[in-house]
Amino acid sequence: MKPEKFPKKKPSVQAIDPTFSVPALTGDTAFFKKPKIASGKPRKKEIPEGLWTKCPKCSEMIFDRELDENLKVCPRCEHHFPIGARERIHALVETCSFQEMDADLVSVDVLKFSGAATYTSKLEANYRNTGLTDAVVTGIGMIGTQRVALGVMDFSFLGGSMGSVVGEKLTRLIEAGTDRRLPVVIISSSGGARMYEGMFSLMQMAKTSGALAYHAAARLPYISVLTHPTTAGVMASFASLGDLILAEPAAMIGFAGPRVIEATTQAELPPGFQTTEFLVEHGLIDAIVSRREMRERLKFYLESMMSGLAGRAA
Ligand SMILES: [Zn+2]
Repeated sequence: MKPEKFPKKKPSVQAIDPTFSVPALTGDTAFFKKPKIASGKPRKKEIPEGLWTKCPKCSEMIFDRELDENLKVCPRCEHHFPIGARERIHALVETCSFQEMDADLVSVDVLKFSGAATYTSKLEANYRNTGLTDAVVTGIGMIGTQRVALGVMDFSFLGGSMGSVVGEKLTRLIEAGTDRRLPVVIISSSGGARMYEGMFSLMQMAKTSGALAYHAAARLPYISVLTHPTTAGVMASFASLGDLILAEPAAMIGFAGPRVIEATTQAELPPGFQTTEFLVEHGLIDAIVSRREMRERLKFYLESMMSGLAGRAA
C-alpha cells in the first residue's frame, strides 16, 4: 500500500515552484487514482505491487517481509539493499535502550539557495518523504552490554549529505561520548557535503574531525562503519578516522567519483576500484562485515576495546 499524501499542505509550498507538478499531486485522491489502467502491462497485475522486490544483483524476486526480516539483505546473493537509519538502529541496539539526541535540530536556508528547486522546498519534501529531520539520527544506546554514542546516517534524506545539522548532531554526539567516556560508533552513508549550505557544509568536516581528536585524546575508541555509498566530504572527514573501520560488502567508498579521478590523473583505474573489497586489500578498511552480522561483531569489538581500556586505567 502506498503511504497517504497530504494534498492540503502542498499548495502553499508548491506555489513557489515554477514546475507544473501541482495538478498531478492534487489529483491524488481515490477517485482520480482508480482509472489508471492505461499503463498497458496486464501481466504485472498478478503480482501485487509493493509486496515483492527484485534483487538488482541476482534478479531473485524477494517477498518484502522476508527482505525486512533479513535486514534488507538478499537471502540468495547477499546484496545489501539501502536501509533507513531508524531500521538500522533498531537492528543494532538493545530494545528500548536508544535515547535520541537533538531530534529537533533542523537546517536553515542561510544561502537562500535556489536552483531547479529551493533548498527550503527540498527540505520540506524530504521531511515528508522520510519522516526524518535530517540525514543523521544520533543518540546513546546499548550494543550488547556496552553503552555507546551511536550516529547513523540515512541516504534517503538528500543523499545523506552533510550540512550544518549533520555536522552539529555528530559533533554533539562525539562530545557526549567524550564527556561520558563512551565509545563512538558512526554508520556512514553519504554523497558528501551538502551543496545547498556551501561553505557551512565544508566546515562540518573540520568540526567533526576536531571533536573526534578530543575523543581520541581521551583514549576512547571510535568505530566507523562505511555503507553504500560513503563518499566525498564525509569519507574525507569522520568516516575515515575510525580506530577501527568496518564496511558492508560491495559498498562504493571513495572521495571523488571514478570519472573525475580518471580525468585528473589521466590513468586507467584498476578493476573494483572504490569498492569495499578493493579497499580492504589496500589497507584502508579493517574488515568487511555483513549487515546481518554487524550487531554481533560490534558487540565483540566494543567489548574487546573497552575491556582493554578498563585494564589500562586500573
Ligand atoms: Zn540477490
